[in-house]
Amino acid sequence: MPKMNDLTKRIRSNPFVRNFSSVKIPQDKREVKLSVPIKPVDQRLPPKVLESVMSILVSVQWDRWRFMLPAKPLLKLDVAVVSHGHADHWHPNFWKKDVVVMPDEAIAPAQYGGLRNIVRVGGSPVSFGPIRMVNLNATAIASVVGQFVPKPHANWWLVGTRNAGILFVGDVNIADLATMRHFLKLCPSFDYHVEAVLLPSYGRVRTHGAGEPAALAREIASVADELRRTHGVLIGALPHPICAGWSDFNAAVA
Ligand SMILES: [Zn+2]
Repeated sequence: MPKMNDLTKRIRSNPFVRNFSSVKIPQDKREVKLSVPIKPVDQRLPPKVLESVMSILVSVQWDRWRFMLPAKPLLKLDVAVVSHGHADHWHPNFWKKDVVVMPDEAIAPAQYGGLRNIVRVGGSPVSFGPIRMVNLNATAIASVVGQFVPKPHANWWLVGTRNAGILFVGDVNIADLATMRHFLKLCPSFDYHVEAVLLPSYGRVRTHGAGEPAALAREIASVADELRRTHGVLIGALPHPICAGWSDFNAAVA
């Protein structure tokens, strides 16, 4: 057996990194067959890029979630980035953050109205050390895909360094999934590097445009599979409220 390098060892022994080849959707127990067997994450990106992706993931709190990965944080600041104003995505630890970054157009839930550490971001990106955050609303997404898009459930964020980029989608309506497929196809022509996509993992959700309880969970599983196959991205799951079977990395509530 070949000797594993340090990064591989750290990754394979981490319970928040998964290896799998098919996914059972909770509630209806139907299996979503993944179209191709999934290689372990350390075989899919060059070690340097993978380290960068993991370092970005651990440097920021994503809505109310954090990633517990074996990587070095890039910031001395304690930063959260928020996708939208729905209270179930906010966390009481926002009161202790150095900075809470939120979209200009989002409205903070009433119980967080007194937060003074908020940085509102509109069309211009904001940077913290080596990490740059680009806020994408419907207009910004439409300008990438070149056509009208329905207003997404939440604003999207592109969060990255010189070496790697992450697309953070904190919450979706069913209609956003088509937009996301289209968007990722066009990212390279806009010089957006996307090595990982963060998606919410749902349980029995009837809202968000889903007709029947398991529809959204199933749709997300197949989108995750498709994005991984066609764009080679890593997929991180934000348990909303259940953990995902389809992700490479699982977050935990902060
Ligand atoms: Zn929401």
